[in-house]
Amino acid sequence: MIMAMQPAEPVPVLSLDTVSVTFGGVRALHNVSFEVLPGEVQCLAGENGSGKSTLIKVITGVYQPLAGARIAYAGRPVETVSPAAARAAGIEVIWQDLALFPEMTVAENIGIRAVLGGLPRRVNHRAMRGAAQTLLARLGADFDVDAPLRSFAIAQRQLVAIARALAGDAKVIFMDEPTSSLTQSETDRLLEIVRTLSAQGIAIVFVSHRLAEVLDISSRVTVLRDGKLVGVYSTEGMTQSHLTELMTGKTFDQSVRARDLPGAPAVLEVAGLSREDDYQDVSLTIRRGETVGLTGLLGAGRTELALSIFGMLRPDRGTIKLDGAVLDLRSNRDAIRAGIGYLSEDRLSLGLIQPQSIADNTVMPVLDRILTRGLISSRKKQLLVARWIEELAIKLGQPTDAISTLSGGNQQRVAIAKWLAVGLKLIILDSPTVGVDVGARAGIFEIVEKLAAEGLAILLISDEVPEVYFNADSVLHMAGGRIIAQYDPRTISLHDLEAAVYA
Ligand code: ADP
Ligand code: MG
Repeated sequence: MIMAMQPAEPVPVLSLDTVSVTFGGVRALHNVSFEVLPGEVQCLAGENGSGKSTLIKVITGVYQPLAGARIAYAGRPVETVSPAAARAAGIEVIWQDLALFPEMTVAENIGIRAVLGGLPRRVNHRAMRGAAQTLLARLGADFDVDAPLRSFAIAQRQLVAIARALAGDAKVIFMDEPTSSLTQSETDRLLEIVRTLSAQGIAIVFVSHRLAEVLDISSRVTVLRDGKLVGVYSTEGMTQSHLTELMTGKTFDQSVRARDLPGAPAVLEVAGLSREDDYQDVSLTIRRGETVGLTGLLGAGRTELALSIFGMLRPDRGTIKLDGAVLDLRSNRDAIRAGIGYLSEDRLSLGLIQPQSIADNTVMPVLDRILTRGLISSRKKQLLVARWIEELAIKLGQPTDAISTLSGGNQQRVAIAKWLAVGLKLIILDSPTVGVDVGARAGIFEIVEKLAAEGLAILLISDEVPEVYFNADSVLHMAGGRIIAQYDPRTISLHDLEAAVYA
């Protein structure tokens, strides 16, 4: 008998087995195994504190594992892992803080090893600049490599960090929560870069909380929980709800909150709304106390639609009515005056932390002006904000503490409290759990429920189907700029809804 030829198994760029790490008696990792195949995009998923960063630090020699661990680079066992050995094997990490040097130029940051390695005089600056430009071009970026890094925004700095990794001839690049401070369009761009690098044969290990992203970008996902390996799964056919269950160890015993609202008057009525290249012929109604979920794949046009209802993107055709009156929204300021609030998917730019995005420069200052001018006095404002902070159970340290000291969930509550102080009829919550740990999300939805009970009309946008399934009265599915279906969570299973959205 002739033996069938087996295709050769690719040699993992990296494999580890029985890795355990303790910190002062606390086990951060227990007997974890992990492997990365050449050119694959793999996600490392797990709740906060599950051990993802610790695992990366073991792989790169920052932390030493307990005796018994086996680690191999490209199939060759490594006795003692060190940062230098990892780098020599082509293992690179883009840390969350990027580990760049703000005062140095872009070119120096990318060529940092040449700068640190050689005597300063022997660094060929021209060659370094040329190399930096070439590496950035590989990422589709073109910016002044002589400018100091501090003049660049976070998304651009991230590209610099990736270029620096490529300068080291990377075989695998770990990205530790790279999208947590990016806007949606910056995230889309990063995911595109990940695909490009993978196509060039570089393996990417992507750490993220965002389930939609994980399922979108990776072919396999390794799940950690409480420092233990839950398993390695193909993302083919994997659903968000299943992945959440694997990460949290909790099954969805949640029940759907959808209910009927007999006699509730329409608050928002959108009819035939279109905007070239963004969305077409959108009609929807949200009634008093109603939560309407809007879901779909990334890039379906949800945020553009939301920005139009919030007066920031002018539609070409169609009408927006609030409490029966047609609105002609020329700016977000008009929308806020009419009683429409918008909580951006990019909470970090809502004037809370990062001083750079559009939302920061437009939304919050307008809100502040409206709060302090005419509408309500600043004393009243403070009382209102204080009331909502209490109502929403926001855990603050000292009132003077920086917002950045709050957890993602609490930052989100502060942002919501600020809106509520204005007095709203409709609030648009665009991906309110982005950056909020899976375990802390329930708290956000308790707030949503409270807002609905107060009579607000709520448009809840999320790319995580279970979120809209469990928390909305009705779910709209948007694809290619159109609303293609409306579902009642009481008459469809979560599984079927996920299958419809991810078909
Ligand atoms: P993740 O990246 O998944 O959020 P980490 O790897 O950072 O998780 O943390 C795993 C566990 O190890 C957590 O309980 C964390 O508190 C603990 N831990 C991480 N680094 C240290 C450290 N340097 N000292 C003490 N405990 C740590
Ligand atoms: Mg981490």
